[in-house]
Amino acid sequence: MAGFDAIVCGLGGMGSAAAAELARRGQRVLGLERHHAVHDLGSSHGGSRIIRQAYFEGEEYVPLLLRAYERWAQVERDSGRELLTITGGLMLGGPDSETVSGALASARKFNLEHEELDSAELRRRFPTLRIRDEVGVYEPLAGFVSPEASVAVHLALAERAGADLRFTESVRSWMPTRSGGVAVTTDHGRYEADRLVVTAGAWSSEVLADLALPLTVERQIQFWFAPPGGVEPFSAAGHPVYIWELADGTQFYGLPQHGPASDGVKVAFFRMGGPTSPETVDRQVHPEEVAQTRSVVTELVPGLDGPLVRAATCLYTTTPDEDFLITAHPEHPQVVLATGFSGHGFKFVSVVGEILADLAIDGSTTLPIELFRLRW
Ligand SMILES: Cc1cc2nc3c(=O)[nH]c(=O)nc-3n(C[C@H](O)[C@H](O)[C@H](O)COP(=O)(O)OP(=O)(O)OC[C@H]3O[C@@H](n4cnc5c(N)ncnc54)[C@H](O)[C@@H]3O)c2cc1C
Repeated sequence: MAGFDAIVCGLGGMGSAAAAELARRGQRVLGLERHHAVHDLGSSHGGSRIIRQAYFEGEEYVPLLLRAYERWAQVERDSGRELLTITGGLMLGGPDSETVSGALASARKFNLEHEELDSAELRRRFPTLRIRDEVGVYEPLAGFVSPEASVAVHLALAERAGADLRFTESVRSWMPTRSGGVAVTTDHGRYEADRLVVTAGAWSSEVLADLALPLTVERQIQFWFAPPGGVEPFSAAGHPVYIWELADGTQFYGLPQHGPASDGVKVAFFRMGGPTSPETVDRQVHPEEVAQTRSVVTELVPGLDGPLVRAATCLYTTTPDEDFLITAHPEHPQVVLATGFSGHGFKFVSVVGEILADLAIDGSTTLPIELFRLRW
């Protein structure tokens, strides 16, 4: 008999949730993580991640988002920790921009609560944002989740349910066993299990080398500025999250202030980074990168144009079509993988944990994941 029911490789955003859900369902779980718990070398750090339902990326995501909200609430109840902050969210751009028209299409199709706002109404209601001729879709249930708190909470729930979690231990290789399970070799030892769940983020191509996945790892930067007039106008109590599509199609986004005022207020670009690898990525943020972001802040959110408090790099793992990859391994169905979250995965962590537990235990899920099959 295998030593464990399931091994989870990578305990970041997705893997911590999978380990917690597998353990909650009575599985004997071994979790393996190459770094320390809740580290900042992958994709799940930086204090906040936008969550929203009127998904401009595609209507197919909406049923999963509705489930994700239910699951975040469940994790909050199970842990007694607040992970989700609802602030409302604004999608801004030209009427035909992907950000606005896509959000509207999802909102209409699924009857999601939303408001369509013209430029004058936006200027009146959101004075921190310098609206030119943009229009907007306002979604009252959007907000943000805390990635570090989410990982910490899921790890704690996993351990509470009996999971064996090991940190600073890297999976080097895995192979199917004759009995239909898997043998996993790490830099510390060898383990067997009935199932392997690979949630290795930016390292996925290495762990799943046999699949030659067409994933690109991208370096992205998160910036925090100190508003010279104080943080109050940016406070989570009254300020929405926003994604702002510029004339050239790039998307600039921001989140309200939360936590200590001295932490500043976060802004970033969605998908502005260049290709890299988790081992070679330049983790320094350079003055010209700060200057480029500041120029947009000056133009669009002038009240944030104060000192830079902090900047941090982060990794996207992107698929050719920017849709996720969540599936069983095509040749070894006892191996389940979830990767390629393409810079928009965190809001789904709660439901991805559920999907991975379904796939690992039952071999299938009733949640709609057809879009996320292996398709290249
Ligand atoms: C700047 C930035 C902003 C973002 N903003 C948003 C947002 O607003 N909203 C949103 O929904 N999403 C957002 N995302 C995307 C989201 O954060 C990611 O999709 C998500 O964090 C991916 O989680 P993951 O579990 O796949 O990766 P990770 O959290 O990086 O986890 C992978 C883990 O696997 C471990 N690992 C790798 N190889 C091995 C091995 N061989 N053995 C053992 N362990 C291993 C790694 O150390 C790591 O801990 C953002 C991402 C970035 C970078």
